[in-house]
Amino acid sequence: MLTGATMDLITLREVRTPRSREELVFAKGDRALGGGTWLYSEPQEGLEALVDLTTMGWQDLERTASGIVLAATCTVATVRELSDVSLFQQCADSLLASWKIHRFATIGGNIALALPAGSMTSLCVALDAIAVIWNATTERRMPVAELVLGVQSTALEPDEVIRAIEFSAGPLASRTGFRRIARSPLGRTGTLVTGRVDDTGEAVFTVSGGTTRPHQLRFDELPSERALVNAVSGIHDWYLDAHGSPDWRRAMSVLFAEELRDELSRPRWNDTRHDTQHDTQHDTQNDRQEGLA
Ligand SMILES: Cc1cc2nc3c(=O)[nH]c(=O)nc-3n(C[C@H](O)[C@H](O)[C@H](O)COP(=O)(O)OP(=O)(O)OC[C@H]3O[C@@H](n4cnc5c(N)ncnc54)[C@H](O)[C@@H]3O)c2cc1C
Repeated sequence: MLTGATMDLITLREVRTPRSREELVFAKGDRALGGGTWLYSEPQEGLEALVDLTTMGWQDLERTASGIVLAATCTVATVRELSDVSLFQQCADSLLASWKIHRFATIGGNIALALPAGSMTSLCVALDAIAVIWNATTERRMPVAELVLGVQSTALEPDEVIRAIEFSAGPLASRTGFRRIARSPLGRTGTLVTGRVDDTGEAVFTVSGGTTRPHQLRFDELPSERALVNAVSGIHDWYLDAHGSPDWRRAMSVLFAEELRDELSRPRWNDTRHDTQHDTQHDTQNDRQEGLA
């Protein structure tokens, strides 16, 4: 939660600080509070109470036999430090905001807000992550790919919160590639495309940022160029806003998917070298501005 910040939420009457799951109770007008970077950034009509999830004391990161579990309250800055796969850093850097926002914005808040440029959503969908969803009494699981339904629309019920995000070891060990473009150096994402090849040979491409919801394109093995172009062209919810037109977003996504297909078809040692380069310098091949592509 942002402390000491000026807040102008004139209908807000209460900020609750739960310590246990039973206290995660939401009446009409109540909202979960993650880092507050969006909640405190614009008027919130009808907001009466905030339920601060950061007081639940959830551990940011847990390593288990089957992978990694990140608490929903884990910040984007912490996600960025995870070195298991380059996508953690690449997607964290895709949330174009100052370090102050990165230090407070949470992975759960980013997914629950469900903006097209939600780069934590992109990360989770790219790695087949599962959202652990709580209300005061029950728990359920759902792929993040199915949780985000559209612009600021999710499959969460009004009394539910995202408790954690589970990343399985398989996708974490896969070969990945990343492409993103924005219309200006510090602009919001125009489109963000990832590619992944698992040990089983399965190839997963994801398209987000330029669409109203994230899309996963799955193939038993690396597809042919034609099959991949057809799959990306089969997406129909390209987004129109100040950060890009639908036609441009579709064209860049097709281009990026093909680049990733080519990159992932090369021997593995090439990718390792590529990832190392990305860690040490800003990689303009993977993260571009319009006009430089
Ligand atoms: C300068 C600036 C730049 C930004 N750039 C981007 C960007 O590039 N891409 C982008 O997507 N966003 C961007 N944002 C918006 C926002 O900061 C991020 O989406 C951020 O990740 C939201 O996380 P938070 O924890 O601060 O959420 P909050 O502001 O706390 O909450 C956001 C919403 O999610 C709900 N919520 C929070 N946590 C949970 C949970 N665990 N379970 C259920 N519901 C929950 C809240 O009730 C609220 O509706 C930007 C904001 C600013 C100020």
